[in-house]
Amino acid sequence: MTHHATKTLQELGYRLTPQRTLVWDVLRASDGHMSAEEVCAQVQSSFPHINISTVYRTLELLVELHLVRETQLGPTRRFFEVEEEVPHHHLVCERCGSVAHVHDEDLGSLHLTLAKGQGFAAKQLTIFGICDTCAAEGDRGTAPAGEVGPAADAAGDAAGA
Ligand SMILES: [Zn+2]
Ligand SMILES: [Zn+2]
Repeated sequence: MTHHATKTLQELGYRLTPQRTLVWDVLRASDGHMSAEEVCAQVQSSFPHINISTVYRTLELLVELHLVRETQLGPTRRFFEVEEEVPHHHLVCERCGSVAHVHDEDLGSLHLTLAKGQGFAAKQLTIFGICDTCAAEGDRGTAPAGEVGPAADAAGDAAGA
């Protein structure tokens, strides 16, 4: 079974070089977000002679063709993933660097507010914060036991009663 990417490339007159196919396959096989270096390392495991600049060029081409999406996380960090039909936004943990997805419906009325109030169509949001895991670790270290904030969920309720 071939994916539309192969067809797209061929229709646009691009040769299906092994490098291009491999970069695409690596991204397709990954369910997460990969840096160019990570893509390169994986491609090199089956195609040792490929170099990072070829990987960069291939990624740029795939981004240009809207087959791959690039998300910039600050000036030095960017990652690549296969473009999905459903647009999504990213939650990035400032501590461990983990990346999670949220979709439009998770944002509630935010994108509507932006659209109506500012005429701004929010296509891609990146929200920085602290993930679950890191927050739990932080709590264990610093917060005194028994102190339950208003945001705590049902799990904490039974103990106090
Ligand atoms: Zn984290
Ligand atoms: Zn993503």
